[in-house]
Amino acid sequence: MIPVANPHAGYTARRSDIDAAIRRVLDSGRYLMGDELLGFEAEFAHWVGTKHCVGCGSGTDALVLALKALGIGPDHTVVLPAFTAVATAVAVQIVGATPLLLDIDPRFYTLDPDELARVLDRPPPDLPPIRAVIAVHLYGQPCDMPAIADMCRWRGAALIEDCAQAHGATLNGQNVGTFGDAAAWSFYPTKNLGALGDAGAVTTNNRRIADAVRALRQYGWDNDRRTRISGGINSRMDEIQAAILLANLADIDLRDNRRFEISSAYRNALRPEFRPWLRPDSEHALHLFVLRASPWMRVALRGPYQAHLDRSDLIRHFAEAGIGTAIHYARPIHYEPAFIRSARKPSRCTNAERAADEVLSIPLWPEMTDADVATVCEALEKL
Ligand SMILES: *Cc1c(COP(=O)(O)O)cnc(C)c1O
Repeated sequence: MIPVANPHAGYTARRSDIDAAIRRVLDSGRYLMGDELLGFEAEFAHWVGTKHCVGCGSGTDALVLALKALGIGPDHTVVLPAFTAVATAVAVQIVGATPLLLDIDPRFYTLDPDELARVLDRPPPDLPPIRAVIAVHLYGQPCDMPAIADMCRWRGAALIEDCAQAHGATLNGQNVGTFGDAAAWSFYPTKNLGALGDAGAVTTNNRRIADAVRALRQYGWDNDRRTRISGGINSRMDEIQAAILLANLADIDLRDNRRFEISSAYRNALRPEFRPWLRPDSEHALHLFVLRASPWMRVALRGPYQAHLDRSDLIRHFAEAGIGTAIHYARPIHYEPAFIRSARKPSRCTNAERAADEVLSIPLWPEMTDADVATVCEALEKL
């Protein structure tokens, strides 16, 4: 079975570099907060194009640290899309803020700027004030950042980008992670830039935010370690993960190019009505290649559409060809048990609900062989 993601193949492809990096750390005697972390932070900030990068323990922690650094807590409401990895909403819950869920644009799976404008103009009167918006570049697709950033600036809400799936994505030639006040990154092993364990980072151009995150990730110690700022946690990136990430960062552009090559082959194999939408003037990071079991929006655009695909039929079709599939994500946030009571939403979020019923991810990872890609393309051609 060709898996949807394959971090082991990523390791074996760069085994000698990664083994050497791990050995370097083991022999150095320094396992936390050393040169590997400093080196990775500098290189990653340079690659993203921000002044600062602060490494931490995970992508979820990166969101928590960014929210805390911006002063977000129980007296505030945070806006986020109703359709995202549950980690985005968990971070809001961890800092004690109220999550306010907005519907997505059904083509791009990202925050709908019209919904955002409505809720910023008329915030729900029974909720604490909206102080932050989290824009998630889901699957690697950039959000409409110029529109979203404008609205946030105008209404005094901080803007955090959730870049966990979007390493390398650009919009109008500008890297994601450089549009908001801060960006949160995950280096979970299957992400476009992956560690071999947990790791994350916050990037920002704002020195005050970077200093606050640096203090908050380690008990709230400030830089000279004599005082504590409140709200600190322990979320360090260990030296072994930093060294592995440095090795993987060296050729991430090659891997992102291979993702592009594979996804182009898939698009060519698919009938046009099944091809995932790509935002114009953007480069998708192609973290995931996501099909829709029912291309209902084409119905609206092109008149009656005959083939109505059922997702379980689609899963069986791929499984019979030895191709793995996965659902990202089976439930919108407001149906997740942990959020059924706490999350609020101003609209019914029908686009998010429909996406959860219809999306299906197929294999996409840089080390796939041409034979693997051909197998998937053959299955796509039969749709
Ligand atoms: C993976 C992911 C996270 C969380 O990252 P972890 O490193 O697993 O904590 C957050 N948001 C999105 C969109 C993700 O895909």
